[in-house]
This record gives sequence, C-alpha cells and structure tokens, in this order.
Amino acid sequence: MNRRHFLKQAALYFSAASMQTAPRGDQVMTVLGPIRPSEMGMTLPHEHVLVDFVGAEQASPSRYDAEAVFKTALPHVRRVRALGCRTFVDCTPAFIGRDPGILKRLASAAGLNILTNTGYYGAANDKFVPRHAYDETAEQLSQRWVREWQQGIAETGIRPGFIKIGVDSGPLSAIDRKLVQAAALTHLESGLTIASHTGNSVAALEQIEALKEAGVDPNAWIWVHAKREPDAGAVFKAARSGAWIEFDSIGPTRISQNVELVKAMKDARLLGRVLISQDAGWYHVGEPGGGKFQPFDTLFVEFLPALRRAGFSQSEINALTIANPAAAFGIKVRRSTP
Ligand SMILES: [Zn+2]
Repeated sequence: MNRRHFLKQAALYFSAASMQTAPRGDQVMTVLGPIRPSEMGMTLPHEHVLVDFVGAEQASPSRYDAEAVFKTALPHVRRVRALGCRTFVDCTPAFIGRDPGILKRLASAAGLNILTNTGYYGAANDKFVPRHAYDETAEQLSQRWVREWQQGIAETGIRPGFIKIGVDSGPLSAIDRKLVQAAALTHLESGLTIASHTGNSVAALEQIEALKEAGVDPNAWIWVHAKREPDAGAVFKAARSGAWIEFDSIGPTRISQNVELVKAMKDARLLGRVLISQDAGWYHVGEPGGGKFQPFDTLFVEFLPALRRAGFSQSEINALTIANPAAAFGIKVRRSTP
C-alpha cells in the first residue's frame, strides 16, 4: 500500500468512524465532505450541471470536455452563491451524466456546498437504466449504491449525499419497482434521503406504499416533479403521509403558477413538507458549446419576491429555502412505524 493510498484509506476510515459517532440526522454529505444541516443555508434542492441524454449504454465522460463543462457552469454557480445560495443539490444520476469530479471542482471554486447522488434513473422508458440492473436483484443493486456511500464513487473518494432514482408513470413497472426497493434498502443502510423523479400520482402513491412495506418512513422520500400532478388531493395525501413535495420547475415563465402551488400547500398547512427548485442548467452533452444553459437565479430574483408579494412572511420563506432542505437532506435512517 503506497502512502497516498494509505492516507485515502485512513481518511475513509475516520470519516466512517465520525459518521457512526455523529448524532443521527446531524450530517449532510457534500462532494467536499460532511457538513452539518445547519450549515446548508439557502439551498437549491434540484438542479443540474451536466446531462447527457444519449442513453445508458453510450454515456461516458469521454463524450465531453470536463474543462469546458467546468468553465461553462462556473459563472452560473458563482451567480447563485452571490445571491445567497449556500447549497446546491445536483440531481443528475449515473448513466445520464453524473460527474462528481466536476462538481467537486465547482464546489471549491465557487465556495458552494454541492451534493451528488447514487442510484439509477428509470424514467424516460428506462433509456438510462444500465443492463446489469435488469439481471441483478434489488439487494445487489443496493450493494452497489451502499458501496458508493461507504467508499466513494468509483476512484474519486467523493461520497453521495442522497439517492436519486426515477420511475415512469404508474402502475410501477418491474424495473421501476426494483429501483424503489433498492433505494429503500440503501436508505436503511445509509440514512440517505431518496429523491425520485416520479411520473404521476399513481407512481407516487405506489412508491410510498413500497417504501413503507420495506420499512422506510415516507419522510425519507422526495416526490420530484410533484407539480406535474394535476390532482392536488393526491399531492396532499402524499404530504400528509410525510413525503417531501418538490415543486422544481420554477422558471421565468412559470412564476405565478408556482406561487399558486406553494400557496395551496400553505393553505393546507403543509408548507413544512415543501421543497422549491428550478430543475435548471445544464451543459447538454452533444450540443455545440453545451447548448442553452438555463441560469439558476430565477428563484432568487423573481420567485422569492413574488412569494413576498403573495403574503409569505420571511419565516415562511426561510422554511421553504433553509429549514425544509436541511430536514430533507439530513442523513438519518427513517423507519416506518407499523
Ligand atoms: Zn431534474
């Protein structure tokens, strides 16, 4: 064992040891290492630096220039840092462009906490699901993801801060159900929160049931893209079960629509279950110059002022942007009560 390898192993050992002694729910894992949830500050819980839509079989870092991605994304993450954002959650999973090394460079350069993830994306008709996911069991997939949590992603030493999966509209397909089960097992081992790109309320409520059956409390699960669901009753039902409801399509053309969604949750006394983000970015692999990069600043310059005009207090805005993300991403095993 050479010295560098030894130091890396020692660092892993001590970070694992400190995880075990840390109070439950008292850590969040960033690409630069653990922080306390209270250090997260204003958080964007769902954005993307890089996405490659080519498909699981062809996705590879050789398809893009990491330096170009870094240079393209840096002014955008610096911009939100200057606007008060302290934590940025990158929601691009493996096999669709996850690149922890670029995220680490951006986190250092911008002075921003950045989280990456483990898990597979089963939405988009399974185009981004790798072959081995069909052959392996949920337990085997979970072992891969837990290994990333314990040892870091590939050789980077960078650990995931949450589990990102995706499912198509329900009823859940066999592969999507397997991904949910693997996520549940991974949660029980790691305490990492599960964020799931979810097609509709049928898929959302089935996932909540599957998690409960596996022993996981719904408050360990984020309904990503909840805005797409037209049935507000289903969204309220999920929130009342403890799930996080993420309205993550805030963009320049959808301000008032998103204000109404958040207001409906407030009126239902469910503001404490809501996360808000933009699903913006990103460097589009395969497009000249990375294509059109949607900035990450709309939430700060347009949406929060619109919430204030709609009567939201500063403490309600703090709950949405600071307290809720800290509670959602705090690492803690959350078991369902039978
Ligand atoms: Zn997204």
